[in-house]
This record gives sequence, C-alpha cells and structure tokens, in this order.
Amino acid sequence: MTEPDPQAPETYAFTCGDCGNSWEQTYERQGQRYLVNGTPVHSPLANAQCPGCEGRTVHVMPPELLQRVKAAESAKAERHQHFPRLHRH
Ligand SMILES: [Zn+2]
Repeated sequence: MTEPDPQAPETYAFTCGDCGNSWEQTYERQGQRYLVNGTPVHSPLANAQCPGCEGRTVHVMPPELLQRVKAAESAKAERHQHFPRLHRH
C-alpha cells in the first residue's frame, strides 16, 4: 500500500484573461494547505490574480492538465530537433 507524498509540490499554470500574461507557480502541499516557499497561501483555484495587471480573470490549469500540455509541447519540439526552453527542476 503506497500513500501519496503529502509534501509533493504541484505546479499550476495560469493565464490572464485580461492581458494574456501566463505564468506558473509551484505549490507545496500540507494536507489541504498550499504553501509557496514555506509561506501559506490561498488555494490557487480560489484566489488567482494576475501579477502583471492585477486582473482576476485568471484561468488556472491544474497540474494534471499542465503535464499533458507539456508532454504535447515536448513532442512537438522533438520534431523540430531543438529544445528552446528545457525546464528542469
Ligand atoms: Zn493580466
């Protein structure tokens, strides 16, 4: 029986519906709490705000979907034989 790691970080992708800005933020999880660099924050799903224009029309992409998008992007990049931004953690 394997339990999921309670500290496993989750990366969410955000897109601002006002200015088109997009960014990512990795959250650490402690039970139901979200932390960024050890600081408790609101749930990314409840309180997203654009750091560019401070707009609240923010679309949130959950980690599962983000992984699929990234997989699709890297598949596309392989066809082009180069990796413009290899994102390593
Ligand atoms: Zn914005």
